[in-house]
Amino acid sequence: MKHAHVIVVGSGIAGLIAALELSRGFSVTLVTKSRLAESNTRYAQGGIAAVMFPDDSVAEHIADTLSAGAGLCNAAAVEALCAEGPQRIRDLIRLGVEFDRTGAEFSRGLEAAHSYARVLHAGGDATGLNIELALVNAVRAARVEVLEHTFACDLMMEAGRVRGLEVLSPGGVRSVLTAEVVLLASGGAGQLFAHTTNPKVATGDGFAMALRAGAQVADTEFYQFHPTALAVPGSFLISEAVRGEGAVLRNEQGERFMQRVHADAELAPRDVVARGIAREMARQGGRAVLLDATALGAEFLARRFPTIDAGCRSHGFEWAQSPIPVTPAAHYWMGGIRTDLWGRTSVPGLFAVGEVACTGVHGANRLASNSLLESLVFAWRCAGLLLEQGIDAGLPEWTSDRVFITAPDEDQRTESLTRSALQQMMWNAAGIERSGDGLRDAAQRLRRARIEGTSVESLESANLLQIACVMVEAALAREESRGAHFRTDFPETRESFRHDSIYARAPAGGHVPAGLEREAALPWR
Ligand SMILES: Cc1cc2nc3c(=O)[nH]c(=O)nc-3n(C[C@H](O)[C@H](O)[C@H](O)COP(=O)(O)OP(=O)(O)OC[C@H]3O[C@@H](n4cnc5c(N)ncnc54)[C@H](O)[C@@H]3O)c2cc1C
Repeated sequence: MKHAHVIVVGSGIAGLIAALELSRGFSVTLVTKSRLAESNTRYAQGGIAAVMFPDDSVAEHIADTLSAGAGLCNAAAVEALCAEGPQRIRDLIRLGVEFDRTGAEFSRGLEAAHSYARVLHAGGDATGLNIELALVNAVRAARVEVLEHTFACDLMMEAGRVRGLEVLSPGGVRSVLTAEVVLLASGGAGQLFAHTTNPKVATGDGFAMALRAGAQVADTEFYQFHPTALAVPGSFLISEAVRGEGAVLRNEQGERFMQRVHADAELAPRDVVARGIAREMARQGGRAVLLDATALGAEFLARRFPTIDAGCRSHGFEWAQSPIPVTPAAHYWMGGIRTDLWGRTSVPGLFAVGEVACTGVHGANRLASNSLLESLVFAWRCAGLLLEQGIDAGLPEWTSDRVFITAPDEDQRTESLTRSALQQMMWNAAGIERSGDGLRDAAQRLRRARIEGTSVESLESANLLQIACVMVEAALAREESRGAHFRTDFPETRESFRHDSIYARAPAGGHVPAGLEREAALPWR
């Protein structure tokens, strides 16, 4: 049986940084289900936000992040993010990332809800790819054992502590890797929805594994929908930076409808723009709205946004000549495995960083370009803690324990569900606009649902089903609208809901400790 001090799951920015740093003091095995360079990180376009210019300040970055988070941010996490961000950017540069420059200065992009142009980018709109490839090179050169095309199935537990990981290797062979620590950096779950900007690997496996192992999860109802994906099968992200540079949204009549919706029009917070587009689409029979970047000129668009320029052309659109059809798509999950500011979860030996984790740094809504930074900063902090305190770095100290225990209910799972049916159900019931009726109906169907098969795809779909259950339960329980969570039956923000929603699986035997406020029936594998 293979053994390492630490197993890292995932090879996006969070996993690569963690593996790299941890390899300075520990034996590290990095497990990733596709090739090493495949991740959400790879597709990030707009850039990474940090205070790198003298006219900007950490206080302003903090204020913008808190404001986007709609009252639910963990202030200490936001402070760590914004204060440590600049040093981590310098570390990325040291590791080989070349951010774009205008003369000697970094080029700076403006994105929605940032009060300063503080978004660094690389290769124009290929920021994620540049970061990913630089870190992959660094990891290849480090003392990290890399297992590609290896699917992490479940955590191996012993006496309530993580002792390793069950994996499916390329030939379909199941085995166990043992370790003192498993660090989940397995990214988000965009594949939960029918329309998403996320690649195929984003199936929330790490979240589902942690849930099965009894970890607390937080704020799962908060999912951010990106306002502008190209309206083609498979979706293709059109970065917010395009609107930051001056592109505008128009309806079929050519009107700039966002000016009617919000004072900041196209640069209003993401959820506002996504809802504005969804409603305008509803008004025009479901047809996509138009993103008009023609005023920016062909030469500028090709230079500043080479990836999008090529992507548009490959789908038959000349965006310098005429507006392109766009629609919202599932993009980023604010919720995740509940962690403290060092990646510690409620399960001994289990750590989580990056999009799979919920530090509370994004609150109810993420500020654009803060997620690459989050992965970078908190992966670094987590590795730092383990290097400093050793492998037994303890459990987090949490004060506000509002845990809603969920109880397994096997008998109800009578209906077979396909992944595409699940994705459509989630898009309709738990998408940009939600209602009590829609969520209740989805919750009932999810409780009856089961996923057939034992292939990797079936295991991913089963994970998605578990995530869907928790997300729908949390969305149903939150009878208000806040940040990215919008309820048509509760359109106002309510002070009584100014708290995180925290769930965990009931302990073995289904015993629910006294005093817990709510119980829900979820289908477990
Ligand atoms: C199109 C697009 C554009 C974006 N643009 C920006 C942007 O401009 N700025 C910004 O800040 N953020 C952006 N984001 C969000 C950002 O890219 C992600 O939040 C961030 O990259 C997450 O990094 P991560 O390391 O946590 O996860 P990821 O980069 O998603 O990596 C997760 C890794 O885990 C692996 N994995 C998953 N499950 C398993 C399993 N069961 N077994 C083994 N391995 C597994 C995956 O293969 C992958 O390697 C964008 C996202 C997308 C999709």
